[in-house]
Amino acid sequence: MTTKEYINEAEESLLHTYNRYQIVLEKGDGVYLYDTDGKKYLDFASGIAVFAFGYNNKEYNDGLKSQIDKLIHTSNLFYNVPASTAACRLKKLSGMDRVFFTNSGTEAIEGAVKTVRKYGFNKDGRNDHEIIAMKNSFHGRSMGSLSVTGNAHYQDPFKPLIGGVKFAEFNNLESVKELITDRTCGIILEPVQGEGGVFPGDEEFIKGIRKLCDENDILLVFDEIQCGMGRTGKMFAHEYYGVKPDVLTLAKALGCGFPVGAFLTNEKAAVLLPGDHGTTYGGNPLACAAVNKVLDLFENTDVLSNVNNVSTYLDEKLQNLVDDFDFVKSYRGKGLLKGLVIDESVKANEIILKALDEGLIVISASGNVLRMVPPLVITRENIDEMYEKLNNVLKTFN
Ligand SMILES: *Cc1c(COP(=O)(O)O)cnc(C)c1O
Repeated sequence: MTTKEYINEAEESLLHTYNRYQIVLEKGDGVYLYDTDGKKYLDFASGIAVFAFGYNNKEYNDGLKSQIDKLIHTSNLFYNVPASTAACRLKKLSGMDRVFFTNSGTEAIEGAVKTVRKYGFNKDGRNDHEIIAMKNSFHGRSMGSLSVTGNAHYQDPFKPLIGGVKFAEFNNLESVKELITDRTCGIILEPVQGEGGVFPGDEEFIKGIRKLCDENDILLVFDEIQCGMGRTGKMFAHEYYGVKPDVLTLAKALGCGFPVGAFLTNEKAAVLLPGDHGTTYGGNPLACAAVNKVLDLFENTDVLSNVNNVSTYLDEKLQNLVDDFDFVKSYRGKGLLKGLVIDESVKANEIILKALDEGLIVISASGNVLRMVPPLVITRENIDEMYEKLNNVLKTFN
């Protein structure tokens, strides 16, 4: 079949929830992807911050293959070794106390939302507790997650959402303080906002939120589904701020392509008990074998120092683009979660389309931002290649 035929088949049968790029991807190797016509792409998107160690990683693939032959699924009525090992390792890595595995990011958020609600309920038996979330945030597409996602465009067609959610301004502590009442049970935020336009939290803000939560007995949820797992140059982005959450959500790079998420709690927030929450697939042996392989790769490679090393080089290159093109306003972000801010005269999506022609995959974020979330294993040479391709593309808009 031709590419066009594959695309037509997809468009006739898949629900049209995405305006997809007109490319059919077939295989990946390292930081490169190949489409069904054999065209090669340098990938600065990683399947949206997922493939931290690149494609076709032998150690990862072998780990999954051997688990497939042993045991894929058990249900959570029983224990399984990969899940207990993965939970133990995540605990150690994060300093949290309890782990619940899910199949996706949005399910991890659902668990976090239920956790803060139950925490409030346990305190005073009331059922009118409130959650404070941030404008411009992104936490997922299921109803609970959507309810704490500060984006009217995503929310409006699906109202009524879950009640008791209020939105504050990210990086504006006063706006959070104003919303706190005696019914506030949780505050949820991304330490570095991803989809919303790549906005890192200010240190004062994140520290201030932690203090507010402590003073008012409110649980603090950090959504590190995108910014966690080494993406920013530390294992978890909140390490930059010297504060810890009560609940931490992970997904995306946690399974590096195998669908798995998790919410982690400290002992205080470990309030969900038998009957409160569950999942058929979550934490199955195959998913947890993927997590264990990912954790092996973090342990056995110097990937975090690579992120820190190459991201300063990426910064230099992005600054060059800001200097050289009037319509490129600025760049921001942490580590290998970067956004290049484009002014209104050029649509980020037009840049993305032309970049695809050049053999470069980049994606967008809200606010006309070109988002770069490459595999964490990229080299300086890969960044040079990205720069050359993007430079060629940007020149066509001058
Ligand atoms: C991607 C993302 C989610 C949702 O994860 P899914 O696996 O797509 O459900 C939630 N929060 C953040 C910060 C994300 O980037």
